[in-house]
Amino acid sequence: MSAARDQVLAFRRVAARHEAAVKRIVARAVSKGRRAMSRTAVRRAANNPGRLLLALAPFADGYAAGLLPLEDPIILAFMAGWRHAERWFPGGSVNILALPQRGQPDPVVEEAIAWGEQFTAEQIVDLTGETRQGVRELTARVMTDQIPAAQATRLILDQSTLGLDRRRMAGLLSFRARAARAAPGAVLQAGGRRYLVPETGMRVERLDEWTGDYASTLLLGRSDTIARTVSVAGASAGQLAAWLAAQADGLLGGGQRKRWESLLLPCVICRDLNGQTVPLHEPFTSKYVGVVTYPPVHPNCRCSVVLVDG
Ligand SMILES: [Zn+2]
Repeated sequence: MSAARDQVLAFRRVAARHEAAVKRIVARAVSKGRRAMSRTAVRRAANNPGRLLLALAPFADGYAAGLLPLEDPIILAFMAGWRHAERWFPGGSVNILALPQRGQPDPVVEEAIAWGEQFTAEQIVDLTGETRQGVRELTARVMTDQIPAAQATRLILDQSTLGLDRRRMAGLLSFRARAARAAPGAVLQAGGRRYLVPETGMRVERLDEWTGDYASTLLLGRSDTIARTVSVAGASAGQLAAWLAAQADGLLGGGQRKRWESLLLPCVICRDLNGQTVPLHEPFTSKYVGVVTYPPVHPNCRCSVVLVDG
């Protein structure tokens, strides 16, 4: 069997292949949400945060609908994970299951679709919920007078503020608040960029411009995270399904186990899992998050699982 490191690097390439498609879908979901929202309703609700939240509800619905096409790259990632698993069998490349007979359904495709439908539905619920929390964070700050209603409305209508989760929205609005208070000549850093406060002080137009700019960076960051996370999940699930199918068919010796591999600089959750070796059909155990079937164990997790002898 090839070294664990080779398996890990190959797995990452396999998973990464689906990230671009996921990012495009997430970006389209944001646009779809914005189109679903009535600009007139948002304008009318501007001075009433409760009504503003209501006026923004169609954004989340449109966003959720826009995420439906995620199913395709997720299913493809699962199948790619399955094919990847086939490559690392002891004794070289073997097809785990015989090719389906003509006219018969392909069991790999069937399993990929079943898993992909379920996982996509869960992802859409989670991502839409987080996006709704981001919207709430914005309206909550209007309600507590941390941001004037008219400015919040402008950010919603003109700029890329919607589509962030709660944590990123909070970061964006804190950045805006810091910029508003910053002394002339001060330098602010956000999203890998430096913002220089002019000697003449901050004007609201510049504040809006900076907020929009940083929001775009945060939105891209969020779509990168989503793409990486769902691609790893798909490929991991496909790989495990392949190993289990192979074991059930007697193509793997009974002694095969799987090991969690984090490689470089794992976070505290992954460090706890790193190196754990368990039978194929058993889950890993994390003292932080409990039972774990496969990576990712948190957003942006770069871990993978490798097949090991005995
Ligand atoms: Zn990890």
